[in-house]
Amino acid sequence: MAFATGRVRILHAARIFPGSRFRSRALGAHQPLDSFVLDCLHGCSGIRRLPRGAPGRDLVLVSYRVRDGNASSAEKANPPGHFAGGPTGKRRNRLTCRICGKTDTGALYQSPKWSRCHACDVWFRSPMPSEDEVTSYYEGAFEPGTGDVLHSMHATDIGLAQQFANLICAGIPSASWRGSDILDFGAGEGDTSAFLRSLGAQVAVVEPHGFRHCAAKGLIAFRSLQEIPPHTQFDGIIMTEVVEHLTSPLQTFQELNLRLKKGGWIFVTTPNSGSLRSTLAKNRWSECRKFGHLFLFSRRALTVALRAAGFQMVHQCRGIVQFSRNPLRFLSQALLQTLRIDGQLRFLAVK
Ligand SMILES: [Zn+2]
Repeated sequence: MAFATGRVRILHAARIFPGSRFRSRALGAHQPLDSFVLDCLHGCSGIRRLPRGAPGRDLVLVSYRVRDGNASSAEKANPPGHFAGGPTGKRRNRLTCRICGKTDTGALYQSPKWSRCHACDVWFRSPMPSEDEVTSYYEGAFEPGTGDVLHSMHATDIGLAQQFANLICAGIPSASWRGSDILDFGAGEGDTSAFLRSLGAQVAVVEPHGFRHCAAKGLIAFRSLQEIPPHTQFDGIIMTEVVEHLTSPLQTFQELNLRLKKGGWIFVTTPNSGSLRSTLAKNRWSECRKFGHLFLFSRRALTVALRAAGFQMVHQCRGIVQFSRNPLRFLSQALLQTLRIDGQLRFLAVK
């Protein structure tokens, strides 16, 4: 459902991309659209704050509803808006954690709205967007028919893929690329997969929204895990910057576990909610303001999730990863990585 004031324009949420900007005369500045979407997703507080009804102002506001069919029973008991504007933002809301199953959860931030499980430390959207809303958002990221990427899905570049491959080999001594069967789950633009193939691996990708884009690169591409022939199993699974986008991360980890051969490994990267930047920026932390991020993990939360899905030898990779060629930035990143308060978790686990 869309609301507008002044000049009426109706936008579907799927057409609004993170980083897009629109002119808001009422606010006197260009505002990123995704922040409005986030506000509207979580109780429509953004709509209430904006001056409405002033003639000639070019505001376009989009609102969502959490659909009952996709809300957990606990969320149904606490419908969207339950906490909007409430005076006790930190009070316990008793939602069931989708990672550890406990109800020791409470509101973390009001704008955008996040809750946190005190038992396992995972952060989750509250209310959680429905599958349909998430799907329509990602479908908007790829041009229909051609598969062209309309905006960056934060793809892993080749240099980073090489470093990740080195981390895997360091953490799993038995891992080798030549002739091994690898699944790149949530492959995005498929660059990591193409790199691993160049090392001699046989790579299949699962990419529901950029499927055509990956297939055009000659990759064996599936839209979903269920499309892969049932008895196919892999030596290793790569999942970079994906788990935070899932509506049911634990279930996906469990399904991926079943797709691994005995002794197979999984490599997972995701934003670190225990990072220095997250601690300092609080609800201004960029990762918790991205529309597509539904769960955010600390070291403890990701460990709990992987173990609950049946993985063993769950550990955080120790090697330093160079994200920047600027020597000073690299030095600071290396320090943060050593202290494990850098922006990204990099985990390995074994079936
Ligand atoms: Zn939990």
